[in-house]
Amino acid sequence: MSGKHVYLFGGGRADGNADMKNLLGGKGANLAEMANLGIPVPAGFTITTQMCTIYFEHKGKFPQELVRQVEKGVAYIERVMGATFGDPENPLLVSVRSGARRSMPGMMETVLNIGLTTKTIKGLAAKTGNPRFSYDAYRRLMQMYADVVMEKAAGIELGEGKGIREQMEHALARLKKERGYQSDTELTVDDLKQLVKKYKRLIKKLLGKEFPDDPMEQLWGGIRAVFRSWNGRRAISYRRIENIPDDWGTAVNVQAMVFGNMGEDSATGVGFTRNPATGDRTFYGEWLPNAQGEDVVAGIRTPNPLNERNKTPDTEHLQSLEKRMPKLYRELVSYRDRLEKHYTDMQDIEFTIQQGKLWMLQTRTGKRNGPAAIRMAVEMCREGLISKEEALMRVRPEQLDELLHPMLDPVAERTVKPLAKGLPAGPGGATGKIVLTADRAEELGGAGDQVILVRSETSPEDVHGMHAAQAILTAKGGMTSHAALVARGWGKCCIVGCGALDIDVARGTVSVNGQVLKEGDWITMNGTVGRVYAGQLRLIPADPEKNPAYKQLMKWADEVRKLGVRTNADRPEDAAQARAFGAEGIGLCRTEHMFFGDDRILAMRRMIVAETTEEREAALAELLPYQKDDFIGILKAMEGRPVIIRTLDPPLHEFVPHDKPSIKALAKQLGVNARRLQARIAQLHELNPMLGHRGCRLGVTHPEITRMQARAILEAAAELTKQRVKVYPEIMIPLVGTKAELAHQRTVVMEVVEEVKRKYSLKKLEIKVGTMIEVPRAAIVANEIAEVADFFSFGTNDLTQMSFGYSRDDAGTFLPGYVERKILPKDPFMSIDQTGVGELMRIGVEKGRATNARISLGICGEHGGDPDSIIFCHKIGLNYVSCSPFRVPIARLSAAHAVVLEKRERASKARTARRRGKR
Ligand code: ADP
Ligand code: MG
Ligand code: MG
Repeated sequence: MSGKHVYLFGGGRADGNADMKNLLGGKGANLAEMANLGIPVPAGFTITTQMCTIYFEHKGKFPQELVRQVEKGVAYIERVMGATFGDPENPLLVSVRSGARRSMPGMMETVLNIGLTTKTIKGLAAKTGNPRFSYDAYRRLMQMYADVVMEKAAGIELGEGKGIREQMEHALARLKKERGYQSDTELTVDDLKQLVKKYKRLIKKLLGKEFPDDPMEQLWGGIRAVFRSWNGRRAISYRRIENIPDDWGTAVNVQAMVFGNMGEDSATGVGFTRNPATGDRTFYGEWLPNAQGEDVVAGIRTPNPLNERNKTPDTEHLQSLEKRMPKLYRELVSYRDRLEKHYTDMQDIEFTIQQGKLWMLQTRTGKRNGPAAIRMAVEMCREGLISKEEALMRVRPEQLDELLHPMLDPVAERTVKPLAKGLPAGPGGATGKIVLTADRAEELGGAGDQVILVRSETSPEDVHGMHAAQAILTAKGGMTSHAALVARGWGKCCIVGCGALDIDVARGTVSVNGQVLKEGDWITMNGTVGRVYAGQLRLIPADPEKNPAYKQLMKWADEVRKLGVRTNADRPEDAAQARAFGAEGIGLCRTEHMFFGDDRILAMRRMIVAETTEEREAALAELLPYQKDDFIGILKAMEGRPVIIRTLDPPLHEFVPHDKPSIKALAKQLGVNARRLQARIAQLHELNPMLGHRGCRLGVTHPEITRMQARAILEAAAELTKQRVKVYPEIMIPLVGTKAELAHQRTVVMEVVEEVKRKYSLKKLEIKVGTMIEVPRAAIVANEIAEVADFFSFGTNDLTQMSFGYSRDDAGTFLPGYVERKILPKDPFMSIDQTGVGELMRIGVEKGRATNARISLGICGEHGGDPDSIIFCHKIGLNYVSCSPFRVPIARLSAAHAVVLEKRERASKARTARRRGKR
């Protein structure tokens, strides 16, 4: 426990730096870094994240060591800032700010103005010559402190809408009404003094304690509250969604207060070094004159644009900082430039101007949506700020999803008048039913309903509902409001500051300019421009090919990656879509649906209930032309690229009816005896169909099925070859567990090859025959199977099912609980279980290549589109991954990431080895 728990910063130096995020949290590490860079930050100190863990281990007691170090820290701030904590003449005030390793916007607590007491308030008033300001700061402290420290952290719950903060706000509103004031700024010193008295009574009455009048007691209360907020409900829920480990803990930053509300020469604001919604390389932000920091973020007042370039028609009339305080604006721009160069990434900054002096309060890597991430990465690379590899790493594969997401159909949009306009906080289109509470959004959204969460504003308490909603719409707030930040982080369509909305949660209505909508009514949003429409408008798929930055990034990804990327597609349309997204072939074409069409299901059923081979062959002959047509379509769509077609996989009983009336009707259609048909269907019944008569087992007992499918594929290929279309079909046999199974099916296919060659007088007709590796045994005897296989494709859905013994169809009852209890780190059907299932794959690869060096290896389970699984596939040396069409771009980028990560790992290993060698 002994050691350094407190790190100082400010006055042109710091104990810590930006690399110490794990220990100091993001905010603390970056405050230290700014101080090191000579950028003016109010002096302060950071209590480590380690101490947070110690605090919880010690059941909330602070070790003596910490007490001493905090006291020294306070003395340091006093020295640098030239004021004394608790001094009645020249008091120092501090903020107590949370800050975890990764930013969790608004999830944890901050208390401002700590150190104001009945003694120091007079000193502050005299020192600033502004008693009004001092009492305003005092009542702000009381509001925050009572809420955060005395209610929440103390575990008191006054109930929904009855919290101390709300009650204080009511008191404030009542006073304003009595006096006939419009805004807070009209409150006089005497009003504020009266309010403060009222607050003290309220606190005593509702929380059973006096508001502390001792600065040190206030400080420790604040520190305790920040630590406790790490285990608050909102923070825990956010961590779960964002996969942040519980044991990271938060740091606490204690920092000298600077005031943006000391008059017209004071101000506060936030900014992004580039536009976080578009990626445009212009300084973007908002500011408020004569205000404190939280006023901008809370969306209470509509903020002004930072500069002239930021102005929109809606903010045209507002003054920019650039015009109002040109010198300070230039200073701010110089820090913006320096910070971006230093961090080589877009920064999200907070600043405050106190009586003409600029202070920086925060910098961190800014959140951005997908399109902005791509544009910034590509442009920063061109500017020479980052390398090509770094540019690739800057875009998370999921962020590509946003470009692939639907947009509002512009034609449909032109035909209707918008219901309301707001700020475009998250681009893209969305349509859904109105819901007014986060809980309802979670309930309906979780059940698969399309909902849009409509709120006056959102708070961290709403994140679960925001997650479940298609889009978020708020009446208040600016581009940096909570709703905007969270939506942007998730790439969700979002509109904020839609002032025309009048939301009545109790009645379940939203009124807009005289029109009344109810909860459950459909609305549509265009988040790119900030327009809301009544009703359900058409969305159209995005066209990423029109985005030059996207194309550039994908080109780089293709240059770097070693893994091939194919797609799982059963229909020509899907194949074409995937090809447009960059698929290099089909890794899995399922043929099940080819038996289900209205025009052919009867023949299929006749085949299934056939009692003799002749009958069965006759029925199959009927199916042949249909399948051949389907294959011609697919092979053409993938001209010049390999297409892996899998032979019939599901058990036959999936194709026949099971209830009496349907069986009777079918008997009539087929002209057979209903009782005999019933008996035949009963015969097909299996207790455990997943492990029953399916996959290659069907092809072995009924080789005529494989023969028909092979013929359809090969005749399609032969006909296209004759038309000079280049085709590369491959036949994949499912569910193989032994070499003999595959050898058997291979022979059937090869006999057909000879027949088709003769029929079409072709000298050559190339076909590859391979298998899925989806039964654990197949992975283990891969050396034997590879002797008769041209390729393997890991069917990781079944392989996961059979390795764990978890039924894919029933795992929903226990798997989520397993993940929650951390019995499994992740759902193994979503991301490959690398230690178990992955090990089987590794064995399959190694043994397969041992007997067949030229074997081609891929994956076609759902995992083929999961970034982590793709990186794993690269590591074990697969040749390609195959995924659904919309995941193809994600797979291309993930495959590039795999190469960069491997390189970096190697470099870091080499460095460690060199260091060891030196020692
Ligand atoms: P968050 O992590 O939620 O952004 P912060 O710790 O940054 O919380 O603080 C909330 C608000 O208070 C911000 O607007 C910040 O700029 C402001 N603030 C924090 N510390 C100070 C300070 N020492 N002086 C002036 N304003 C401050
Ligand atoms: Mg902040
Ligand atoms: Mg399977």
